[in-house]
Amino acid sequence: MIYNIHYDISAIVIYALILYCIFSKKDLRKMQNKMFLVIILTSLATTIFDIISAYTNSYSEKYSMLILYLMNFIYLFLHNAIPILFCIYVAMVSGIIYKNSKRFLALISIPFVISIINFIINPFFDCVFYINDKLEYIHGPLMTWIHISAFFYIVVSIVFMVKNISAISTNKVTGVIFFSMGAIISLFIQLAYPKLLIELFVQSLALFGILITIENEDEVSSGIKNVYNKQAFLNENAILLGNKIDYNVITIKFTNYKYYSAILGAIVMNDVRTDIARWLCSINKKVKTYDCENGAFSIIMKRTSKEEAFAIAENIKEKFSKDWIYNDINVAFNTQICFINIPDDVSEMDKFLSMFDAEYSKNDNKVSFIYGEQLKFLQRELEVEKAIQRALDNKSFRVFYQPIWDKKTEKIHSAEALVRLFDEKLGNIPPDEFIPIAERNGKIIQIGEYVFEEVCRMFSDNNIQSYGIEFIEVNLSMVQCMHRNLAEKFDEILKKYNISSSYINLEITESAAANSPEMFLNTMEQLKELGFTFSMDDYGTGYSNFSYMFDLDFDIIKLDKSILWNSDKNERAKIILNNTVKMLKEMGLQIVMEGVETEVQKDYVIGLGCDYLQGYYFSRPVERVKFIEYCEQYNG
Ligand code: C2E
Ligand code: CA
Ligand code: CA
Repeated sequence: MIYNIHYDISAIVIYALILYCIFSKKDLRKMQNKMFLVIILTSLATTIFDIISAYTNSYSEKYSMLILYLMNFIYLFLHNAIPILFCIYVAMVSGIIYKNSKRFLALISIPFVISIINFIINPFFDCVFYINDKLEYIHGPLMTWIHISAFFYIVVSIVFMVKNISAISTNKVTGVIFFSMGAIISLFIQLAYPKLLIELFVQSLALFGILITIENEDEVSSGIKNVYNKQAFLNENAILLGNKIDYNVITIKFTNYKYYSAILGAIVMNDVRTDIARWLCSINKKVKTYDCENGAFSIIMKRTSKEEAFAIAENIKEKFSKDWIYNDINVAFNTQICFINIPDDVSEMDKFLSMFDAEYSKNDNKVSFIYGEQLKFLQRELEVEKAIQRALDNKSFRVFYQPIWDKKTEKIHSAEALVRLFDEKLGNIPPDEFIPIAERNGKIIQIGEYVFEEVCRMFSDNNIQSYGIEFIEVNLSMVQCMHRNLAEKFDEILKKYNISSSYINLEITESAAANSPEMFLNTMEQLKELGFTFSMDDYGTGYSNFSYMFDLDFDIIKLDKSILWNSDKNERAKIILNNTVKMLKEMGLQIVMEGVETEVQKDYVIGLGCDYLQGYYFSRPVERVKFIEYCEQYNG
């Protein structure tokens, strides 16, 4: 035989290995996976016909003209299909395919169609190849076109990748580069040594590379068949958004998932999770299901109409309006379902994440279904984020002060610093709205520092101690406490203004302290070392676990205003208030009563033994100048 077919035989072994990997552990739900299989099968068939045609060409005298012709024809025809198949595959991986798919496919297939025409007319014109009188296989003039077309598809594939490079993991980019380089190099080797059939071997190695990079789903699998993980969800959205594709997403969040995790235990809960994920997978063949951790699931629908997608969402809502039954266990999930159309409802990536972070239905509904107009808050959240950034850039956050009254001296003895955001576009944005958003996107760190610095500046600019103000209370978010160099930063600011730490008392909410006491303990120790004192804010808003109170060293407890307001209306709430004050006093803590609005309330809480009072009865939060005036007047 005049050809070296050893490489082809090796290639067959490699293709067999790839096929084994595909069928043993992978599912082929995604179009992309199916396409990869088509490429492998085509390549395998090409290799087989390469060997057959090499054989018949070598011993041409034994075969009829027709056999010789046919074997070469099939080989070339199959071979010619691989580049375009690969190109479509890359279009799927990079998401280009989802956009304008029909027109796009038509356009991209022009070189391929020309090749096909070449093949069709080849028997009459011998333009691609022919078998001469000596029964030799000879390339015709249009063989160059076949090579150009292959080259074209490889270049287009690289362009697709580069165009979407930001949305595609490096893993995938490596895979495509691997294949493209392999294909190009082998093409040249093959042209230089036509008798050395090495091209398909190099290609098989390149496809193996793709198998272990792009097609490797271990890192995007949730561990449940056909269900992907949160990372895969993010990747997919990045690709779809990057390509400006219209699609629909359903997010499902069980707001009481943690509760069930705690009582059912990890193993049973994992079974429930699997059960739910499988059900979500089964509702429609066209959907892709993701397990986004901690009781959050999502579904992406690329090829379903909005109506069809909405019907799926309603189906899910129907299902979760009843308890989930697993092995005779009734799991009464509270479910929050969002139906999101892109780009109508959301146009930015991180908004999906906020769908999981936040609980949007405050009432404990069995199931809440949010879509269309109701999703406008996502847009609002985006606007608020921009307003926060504007305020940080222009240093336009303002700090207001609300006086705190001391029972002993009957004077204003301190104040709480409260941040304000007046935006030119959105007007006044209340802190209850923008603080949680800033906590989610991390801007609270900068806001917190800004407020802290403003307070220090006030001390250094105005001699407010002379009006009887002993310290200012500054609110601290849990997100700030999680930041390593918080204490360092605060110390730096104190030094800059030459302010003693005793002028600042830091407020931290009870929920933050109760939820992650270890994390807080560390930061608190560092800050205490610097000389800061602490208040526990919003005390009594529903935490029955007292253990954190043993570990955390607070100086002041601020009773939440709701306790006082409820005690006005409800006899039992009054008993709770009375006994809470009694208990805290016995512990030797100082108490601030928040939300004092009337004289009756004032007299009542003084009678109970609260040390300090804060509320509209004395003053609303006011800007610095007004606050100083107020202190001047009140304290004389
Ligand atoms: P908070 O720490 O519980 O602050 C007290 C809130 O109650 C303030 O609302 C105050 O205006 C309001 N308030 C005080 N007395 C009365 C009263 O008698 N009646 C009524 N109806 N309300 C009263 P504000 O300023 O809207 O702040 C809301 C929340 O935003 C604060 O609750 C705090 O959690 C957060 N916040 C405000 N400023 C900051 C800040 O600089 N940093 C951080 N991390 N959070 C802040
Ligand atoms: Ca506070
Ligand atoms: Ca409070």
